[in-house]
Amino acid sequence: MAEKTLFQKIADKEIPADIVYEDDQCIAFRDINPQASTHILIVPRKPIPTLNDLTPEDKTTVGHLFLVAKDIAAQEGLSNGYRTVFNCGEDGGQTVYHIHLHLLGGRPLAWPPG
Ligand code: AMP
Repeated sequence: MAEKTLFQKIADKEIPADIVYEDDQCIAFRDINPQASTHILIVPRKPIPTLNDLTPEDKTTVGHLFLVAKDIAAQEGLSNGYRTVFNCGEDGGQTVYHIHLHLLGGRPLAWPPG
């Protein structure tokens, strides 16, 4: 069996994290190195390495991550807006190879990103 990803270990409670939401498809927890006052990662339980590995069967799961992001944003009081980001691969700045949707908010976010 393949070694668990860092985020699978968090989902399995082998590594602690500040979990804000979980269900049968995903888990959401605060980023350890937050880039805004709200910075939450929403991670599917399925360990898909990058967006390039998505298959049609992942459609519902990925859509679910955005619905969860919207609910957490409301829970966090981000009524003035927020950003959701998937980084993909080296140039995209991905460092953990288990896809995750970043939810960032609580300050105005610059565009374009660095
Ligand atoms: P990315 O660079 O898009 O792959 O994002 C990975 C994110 O995971 C970074 O923002 C890290 O700060 C965050 N991260 C790494 N390790 C942990 C951890 N143990 N708990 C919470 N967040 C983490």
